[in-house]
Amino acid sequence: MTVQAILNVKGSDVVSVLPADRVDDAVRTMMVHGIGAVLVRDEVGAVVGILSERDVVRGIAQDGPSCLAQPVSALATREVVCCRPEDGIAHVMGLMTRGRFRHLPVMRDGRLAGLVSIGDIVKHRLAQVEAEAQALREYVAAG
Ligand code: AMP
Repeated sequence: MTVQAILNVKGSDVVSVLPADRVDDAVRTMMVHGIGAVLVRDEVGAVVGILSERDVVRGIAQDGPSCLAQPVSALATREVVCCRPEDGIAHVMGLMTRGRFRHLPVMRDGRLAGLVSIGDIVKHRLAQVEAEAQALREYVAAG
């Protein structure tokens, strides 16, 4: 199974904010969409960072609630690791495990094609395991 299989179900929409947006606005955006990270993109759409709830927790722990008034660029991670639609699920799970993050933007030919989270991957793996178990049950019942 590839990342593309997940995008086929999930779609290519990625919730994004601007580097100059306030952190508290980005937090509200995460809450409204029920997500744990937003991509940071500049005015022309280039990916310039990622802000996750963990960055906000770190900011509050270090600077207190005043960090919520800061621009997103102050807390976001700048070096964003990305994957490709043709990458296998085992590969992206390895990237997430080694990098200790749960979100991966997907780039196709230098353009943003979507974003997969650890939740998307677990959901797809579960569906796959259930389908395999069902196929085995049917095989045994038919024998
Ligand atoms: P997460 O587990 O995705 O909520 O994020 C944990 C930390 O990794 C935070 O500091 C994020 O900004 C950072 N992070 C999340 N996704 C990525 C990514 N794809 N590339 C680099 N850093 C990331």
